[in-house]
Order: sequence, then C-alpha cells, then structure tokens
Amino acid sequence: MKTIGIIGGMSWESSVSYYQQINRGVAAALGGLHSAKLVLYSVDFAEIEALQRLGDWQKSAELLTKAAVALQSAGADFVVIATNTMHKVAAQVIEAVTIPLLHIADATADALLKSGISCVGLLGTRFTMEQAFYKERLEARGIRVLVPDDAGRAMVDRVIYQELCLGKVESLSRRRYLEVIDRLASEGAQGVILGCTEIGLLISDRDTKVPLFDTTEIHAKAAVAKALES
Ligand code: GLU
Repeated sequence: MKTIGIIGGMSWESSVSYYQQINRGVAAALGGLHSAKLVLYSVDFAEIEALQRLGDWQKSAELLTKAAVALQSAGADFVVIATNTMHKVAAQVIEAVTIPLLHIADATADALLKSGISCVGLLGTRFTMEQAFYKERLEARGIRVLVPDDAGRAMVDRVIYQELCLGKVESLSRRRYLEVIDRLASEGAQGVILGCTEIGLLISDRDTKVPLFDTTEIHAKAAVAKALES
C-alpha cells in the first residue's frame, strides 16, 4: 500500500471527512483491521483565508509547497490537497516535489464522465466558481460548467466561510443551497459538483433528486484507489 500525503486543515472540518473516508475505503477494500497509511500536514486555515482575501496566492503557494516537501520527506508516495480552492496553486506544489499530485478536478472530471454528465453545475468558494483554474480543468475534458448567479454565488461562499468551515450546519442554508441546485438543474445542469470540501457536511443525495458529485468523497475514493494500485 502506498502512503498518502494530505495537505489539510482547509478547513480541518473537511480534513476529518477525508481521514474518515480514506480509512473506511481502505478497510472496505482490504478488510479486517486494515487502515490507510497516510501523513497529514494540517495548516492554520486563518492564515490561508487571510491570504486568499488579499489575493496573495504567491505566499499561500509557499505555505503549501512547504507542506508538500515535508510530506515527501515524511514518506508520502503522492500528495492530495484537501480543498478545491487551493488547487489554484497546484502547479507550484507539483513543481516543488518529485511525487505526483492527485488533482481534485481531474478525479471529479473522471467521475462526471463515468456518469455521462456533459453539463454540470458548480458550487464552491467564489474563487472556485469565478476563476478559471478549476472550471477550465473540467472544460478541457469537454464538460460545460454552470455557476449560480451573483446573489447565489455570494450566498454559497458566505455559508462556506462563515458556517461550514466553523462546523456550523444550518437548515436554512441547506434550503438555500437546494434552491440554487434546482435553479442550476433548470438551466440544464445534469448534476451539481459540491466543489468545496465542506459542502458534503450540509447536503447529500438524500436531500435532492439532482445527482450530486461530492468532491471530498470523489477525491478520497481516488486517493484510496491510487494507494492500493500496484
Ligand atoms: N474547503 C473549501 C474548498 O474545497 C474551502 C476552503 C478553502 O478556501 O480552501 O474549496
């Protein structure tokens, strides 16, 4: 089994989900007392969030490359950045280490194509929904990406930073997210990406008929498959 290197803490609420899902995946595949070999480098999310707000992606790239280098020297065979947004600096992380990066948008594109989805809605932070780094990775695979309107994006982003990353799960926010999902579906989205690793704490397949693609679940599954491949 390969050792997974996780750059986490963004936020730690979703790193908990990764840790649980990766270990459950390994146990399901290998049985008994098996669990994942992994190293977790957890950052202080307040520092990262402040740099995001300032637009200082260079400084946040430095923090994340430092984490990747540490994971490599701790024995990780590949790296997972446990947040969609910080894939904004994925290229710098890849350059800093010799081990591969398992990109969250690539794993998500694989899952979408496997389900026959060619037009998808995307929920995430405003960086993920509005900037090119994430959407273009999906579009390069032939997938059309729809995002909520201005008010919808502002609400989705606010709930991520002011509730979910703080461990708050509010039913009013769940209703608002479901309205945005329905709107995206009525505009032609065949499914919706939960493109922020905390959104799975708020909504799941049980809440809507629209097919959901939870990036934490997809990324964790892909990490397990990569760890177990020979
Ligand atoms: N975990 C979130 C994501 O997947 C947001 C936190 C962050 O800005 O990294 O994008």
